[in-house]
Amino acid sequence: MITQNVTRNAASQNPTRRQFLTRSCMAFSGAAIGLRAQRLGARPAAASAEIPKIDPGYIGPQFFDEREEQALLEVLESGSPFRYWGPGEPTKVLRFEEDFAEYMGARFALGVTSGTAALDCAVAGLGIGPGDEVIVPAYTWWSDYTCVVHAGALPVFADIDRTLNIDPKDFERKITPRTKAVIAVHLLGGLCDMDPIMEIARKHKVAVLEDCAQCVGGSFGTKKLGSVGDVGIYSFQINKMMTSGEGGAVVTSDPLIYERAARFHDMGTIRQLFLDRSGPSRVQTFAGENFRMSELTGAVLGAQLTKLDSMVAQLRANGRAIYDGIKSLPGIRLRRRPDPQGDTGYGVYFEMKDKATRDRCIRELRGRKVPAGTMSGSVLLPIQESVINKRARHPDWPSFNSPRGRQIKYGPDCCRQTLGVYDRFVQVRVGAKYTPRINDYIVDAIREVYNSVV
Ligand SMILES: *Cc1c(COP(=O)(O)O)cnc(C)c1O
Repeated sequence: MITQNVTRNAASQNPTRRQFLTRSCMAFSGAAIGLRAQRLGARPAAASAEIPKIDPGYIGPQFFDEREEQALLEVLESGSPFRYWGPGEPTKVLRFEEDFAEYMGARFALGVTSGTAALDCAVAGLGIGPGDEVIVPAYTWWSDYTCVVHAGALPVFADIDRTLNIDPKDFERKITPRTKAVIAVHLLGGLCDMDPIMEIARKHKVAVLEDCAQCVGGSFGTKKLGSVGDVGIYSFQINKMMTSGEGGAVVTSDPLIYERAARFHDMGTIRQLFLDRSGPSRVQTFAGENFRMSELTGAVLGAQLTKLDSMVAQLRANGRAIYDGIKSLPGIRLRRRPDPQGDTGYGVYFEMKDKATRDRCIRELRGRKVPAGTMSGSVLLPIQESVINKRARHPDWPSFNSPRGRQIKYGPDCCRQTLGVYDRFVQVRVGAKYTPRINDYIVDAIREVYNSVV
């Protein structure tokens, strides 16, 4: 408490950005101090009104320090916030792309303005268009659906299973001769069951696009997520792992996919720097977009990338501590994790027998100030009104005007298994800055509540 006051006084005399950062860190240790006092106190945890707020916060910003500050200053002082030219020699995005590709174990990376833009580039990279079908999990973020529709292709939903990611069996059932790709979305810090997915995809010659927006830095065996399939995308929006507020990236080791994606991100044209990476041009100019990353974004991401390993390590360790503390509960059904070592630890997930029990469990946990809820951050796409009604930006949009596009039916009947999984799972958020005491407190609360509601 004394340190906190000192910090506050110092901050009011000299309110630098550093002080601001120190103060946001204090919010965490403040929570820990309150928690300790509360646990040492006489009253039982659940009944106390003094339980501090356990706030997982936003991961990336908790790691901001003078590295981001320095990199941003370099861009400002050089007067060159644009990636290709300026009065100085801009290198932030260029370097970030090289470092990011290396980190992910891929040959090429492309920095773009968002994860959504990255998906549009990846779909363009794969040459997907009208007449093609793309298999998308029924529970994921909007962009995995919109990128298919924007390309004029048809989204076909597959259910999720207890991995909370696409069910490989349903993926295989949904393949038709027109299926060009599957989007394997690694949701909520946990990876898809990549072995069967890759096997089925190769067997049917279906491309694999990995959406790693919610699992940046996660891995599958010795590979980083995004380098397992044909092309991977990432988001650097504030809710994800490392962040620049907005931002995204595409990685691939395929020079053709890379050139097409790089062209799409810049009006369909290509700069020499990309060809220096992927070799002589293989594609003619076509109509593209402007999804170029700014040097300011590249500066922040370059600094954040140096800390990605420690972000993931801290989050993962806290997630593991909580999983380890509850896995011995008799009968508990945890999220199935195809590679628990590769999970980033964004949350801890377990399944109750039905929705009513799940809701009671969440209520009880929240009563104990545990950040519990339903699965979050995505949408049950097939039951959204605009999806059911196949609404695109023009009524004659090719996606839904092919014979198959007219015939396909979305709605609850195409995703019953997904709706069931969604209704039964409890999510408990994990924070990178949780202390062992917070982890213990959460474990105790889950154990208590789980036994009382089942
Ligand atoms: C956030 C997210 C995106 C889109 O990223 P933005 O940077 O917000 O455009 C795509 N897919 C998934 C799974 C996401 O969670």
